[in-house]
Amino acid sequence: MTLKFWNGPNTSGSTASGFELRRRDMVERQIRRRGIRDERVLEAMLKVPRHAFVPPKLAELAYDDKPLPIGAAETISQPYIVAVMTEAAQIHAGDKALEVGAGSGYQAAILSFLGAKVIAIERNAGLAAAAQERLIHLSVANVSVLAGDGSEGYAPEAPYDVILVTAAAPAIPSPLLDQLAEGGRMVIPIGGLREQELALVSKTAGQVSTRGLVSCQFVPLIGKAAWAEETLPIEK
Ligand code: SAM
Repeated sequence: MTLKFWNGPNTSGSTASGFELRRRDMVERQIRRRGIRDERVLEAMLKVPRHAFVPPKLAELAYDDKPLPIGAAETISQPYIVAVMTEAAQIHAGDKALEVGAGSGYQAAILSFLGAKVIAIERNAGLAAAAQERLIHLSVANVSVLAGDGSEGYAPEAPYDVILVTAAAPAIPSPLLDQLAEGGRMVIPIGGLREQELALVSKTAGQVSTRGLVSCQFVPLIGKAAWAEETLPIEK
């Protein structure tokens, strides 16, 4: 996939090559040094321009070791967590992937770079539309962004070789487990509202196994098969 350089407003003053240098530094210090070994994942993180997925005024911070706001009180995940999830999912070219929590579209672009066909669902319709537009603008192929409740998956395109859930659930949503293909991998943060464990869920010969990866902090997965919005504490 050839990614065009993002042509949106650049209020940061940084040049394309300046961003490239920072991306290289991000991959070496934040990702490879912390144990990510899959060269294809490292290459995807090196090539996909994270600064194009954050609001222009935050472009300067795009390669910092942290999540960033993307509007609508939501965030783009920390680069290291994106790398952990992507490596654990073991993407092969031609895999069909479901991403729940499309946000900015960055994780979906990483999956596309690795050759997956991606259905990405986002609860916030404005973020979903902006993510789809951004991905088209960047010439990212094979990603469809849909607005809706991804805790129920997306049955018309099931089963999925890979399901990545980028918001935290109290338990594995059963519709997602049902929509995972035989031999499929799901990566999902499971736990409470403040802290979770990233879990790798595998389905082999009808048996489901779960392995913990790292502790993490994601925003809640709000939906029918996850947290009910009315039960969540009001953010001040
Ligand atoms: N993966 C995203 C990226 O690359 O920018 C970041 C995801 S952000 C940490 C979590 C997203 O999950 C938020 O945009 C939020 O609106 C979304 N979300 C929460 N509950 C959802 C649901 N039931 N279905 C779809 N999206 C949901």
